[in-house]
Amino acid sequence: MKITDVQTAVITGNFDWVLVKIVTDEGVTGLGEAYWGVGVNELVHKCKPLIIGENPINVGMLYEKMIRGMSGAGSIGGATVTAISGIELALWDLVGNALNTPISTLFGGRFRDKIRIYADCHAGDEYTPEAYAKKAREVVDAGFTAIKFDLDQQNDERRKLWVDEDLGRHHKFEPYNRTIPPSQREYMESLCAAVREEVGPDIMLAMDCHWRYTTHDVTLLAQDLEKYNLMWLEDPVPPENIKAQARVTNNTRTPICTGENRYRKHGYQELIEMHAADIIAPDIPKMGGLLEAKKVADWADVYYIPIAPHNVSSPIGTVAAAHVCASMSNFLVMEYHAYDVKWWETLVNEPVIQDGFIHLNDKPGHGLTLNEDVARAHLKEGTTYFGEGI
Ligand code: MG
Repeated sequence: MKITDVQTAVITGNFDWVLVKIVTDEGVTGLGEAYWGVGVNELVHKCKPLIIGENPINVGMLYEKMIRGMSGAGSIGGATVTAISGIELALWDLVGNALNTPISTLFGGRFRDKIRIYADCHAGDEYTPEAYAKKAREVVDAGFTAIKFDLDQQNDERRKLWVDEDLGRHHKFEPYNRTIPPSQREYMESLCAAVREEVGPDIMLAMDCHWRYTTHDVTLLAQDLEKYNLMWLEDPVPPENIKAQARVTNNTRTPICTGENRYRKHGYQELIEMHAADIIAPDIPKMGGLLEAKKVADWADVYYIPIAPHNVSSPIGTVAAAHVCASMSNFLVMEYHAYDVKWWETLVNEPVIQDGFIHLNDKPGHGLTLNEDVARAHLKEGTTYFGEGI
């Protein structure tokens, strides 16, 4: 069997979903997805000559061939690795289809058939405890057992108010120096308290800081949030400095999670070996793909660190990632970022989510087929549909 073509279709969802199709001379195909990003679609096509004519069964070798062949474009991280990830996902689907086997079987089989997902929640533009609690209730009533909110996304006027109010009393506060005024910290705690009170102690609740804060101020925040038993506090400090990350992690009982900005297994080396986070969140269709994510998960497991993948993909990338999550002993929960994208699941012909879990089927590959009508209806303007018209 030989690869004869690599095609893409960019679907406009809440992000650009870069779908990747691989075609072979035996008629077997695979469908994958790369995380969104400027140039990712083009980079998939740049990788194409490296794998045309190759046997798709050799996924590990083809991944290395693309990483090495694309080193000039920058394959340590970024859009190049993301593009390669989309191809890698498609290759695993293709191998599964060729062998009439689910992807999870190719990764050692399943610890679980149901993959717990957490709903990333947005409470509109209000950023009030009441709005957060209302949204939390809605999502939990929809069946989710795990949810996440943003703690850092308060609107500009409110941020300005904090800065203006606190400037007089606390001279260190201004918008760009990553500090958290005490009144803002108290407000963040009130958001957290409102959600916890609404959903009770058993719902798994995470909060995201999007890399905004100083080590000291966000450590105070993490300590103040300890009584709410968070599933985790995410990305407290900027992602580049693992020692700063470790300092926060080591100074609070609130579990700290990070990892969505890192690429390939090398990107997780220090994070794992310094035990700089309590939970690691690789974005699988971004960081290198299924096999690279499995390697990171096994490496993290040596340090008894669980894996909670970041995810903003369509059902294709999400369920492909869910197959490898099924094979990880240390899987915790995976992100679902499309709660408010009501047509998300209609992109495929098979049911995906039920009661807050992805239910894997036993069909070959990732087990999903594209709903062509829905995909075409949301095709990104100015792009082509899997090679049509080229
Ligand atoms: Mg995040």
